Amino acid sequence: MTPVLIVLNAGSSSLKFQVYDMFDGMEPRLVWKGFYEGLGGAVHFIVKDTGGTPLDEMTWSSGDGIGHEEALMHLISWLRSHQENRKLAAIGHRVVHGGGAFAAPTLIDEAVIQELEKLVPLAPLHQPHNLEPIKIVQRRLPGMPQVACFDTGFHQTQSDIASLFALPRDMRERGVRRYGFHGLSYDYIASVLKDYDPRLAEGRVIVAHLGNGASLCALNDGTSIATTMGFSALDGLPMGTRCGAIDAGVVFYMLREMKLSPEEAERMLYTKSGLLGVSGISNDMRTLRSKAATNADAKRAIDMFVYRITREIGSLVAALGGLDGLVFTAGIGENDVATRAEVIAGLAWAGLTIDEAANRTGGPRISAGSGPTAWVIPTNEELVIARQTRSVLDAVQAKLAS
Ligand code: ADP
Repeated sequence: MTPVLIVLNAGSSSLKFQVYDMFDGMEPRLVWKGFYEGLGGAVHFIVKDTGGTPLDEMTWSSGDGIGHEEALMHLISWLRSHQENRKLAAIGHRVVHGGGAFAAPTLIDEAVIQELEKLVPLAPLHQPHNLEPIKIVQRRLPGMPQVACFDTGFHQTQSDIASLFALPRDMRERGVRRYGFHGLSYDYIASVLKDYDPRLAEGRVIVAHLGNGASLCALNDGTSIATTMGFSALDGLPMGTRCGAIDAGVVFYMLREMKLSPEEAERMLYTKSGLLGVSGISNDMRTLRSKAATNADAKRAIDMFVYRITREIGSLVAALGGLDGLVFTAGIGENDVATRAEVIAGLAWAGLTIDEAANRTGGPRISAGSGPTAWVIPTNEELVIARQTRSVLDAVQAKLAS
């Protein structure tokens, strides 16, 4: 029997999954991937092979009441009927916030769940959904090993100064500090830099994770020394629907003068701002690009996005004391030729020069000249979860054997 892992990434109405074979001494190997979309309403399930060919598909209407629990149990039974000589060994979960306590991937038990629940106020729009399938598995598949893999973990290498807010001392002791997110993505990129250019792996690199969520991370010798997201996933760059860094005074104005409730203000900052808010059209870069030539609002939203990325890169170049490489990743970073070109054009002062032809075809190297290099590297957060889950299982087994 080949042991397999399920990697889960749960959102408010979606459950993305990947299934990996685990062979001794080898990198986890992807077998199937898919998702459930529209949970709580009309649900669409699809599972594909590693080449992206659909293997099975199903839809349920909103009257069928398919939520996370039903979807997860459907996945387990789909797996059982297709697994042949495989056996489910563990489930690895993406968990956005590990707080100060969880720096490394962690085997889940009741006490861990309780600690992770305490972090819900720090990531109110993500953490509850990440914890939901963990609790379902505890209930429905008792004894199944589960591992939590954190988006914050990778940034634990940052200095005290880099993670400090200029607030009274006891706020830091209460956990009010910069944590940083997208760590699973940065971990992956750091792990493959050597395959692109060995000097990069040891150098000063800025990774631009530009998806619906967006952030930048400064890597020195493969470790995170600074990042744009902070206490919550709201900080830093503007995103699809999130505002990114704003003056905290705006929040007081919203509460006191505009009489918004904290929930209304939070909803505005998380779900109605960013590219969507500024354009008034869409949070989707493809839609905005298709309209930018004729629609000033679409163009303005993109210009703001690029301006803020370029400015923040300047800040991280200062934190690194120079720059050897810039990596673009995630949906926009991997696919939007124009965003990459505009960001690089804004970094001419740092010695970056674009290779237009390579940028159009996706690189991987998209810079010309002898200055810092620029790259397009597809991220793979799920593989990092599989690797981390595997390493936790191996450590448990080694402990049992000793
Ligand atoms: P998430 O953070 O939800 O994982 P993704 O990494 O999938 O997000 O990124 C979604 C973003 O990527 C959207 O703004 C989408 O428009 C953009 N994107 C995806 N494909 C393309 C493309 N071919 N050209 C431009 N933008 C793209």
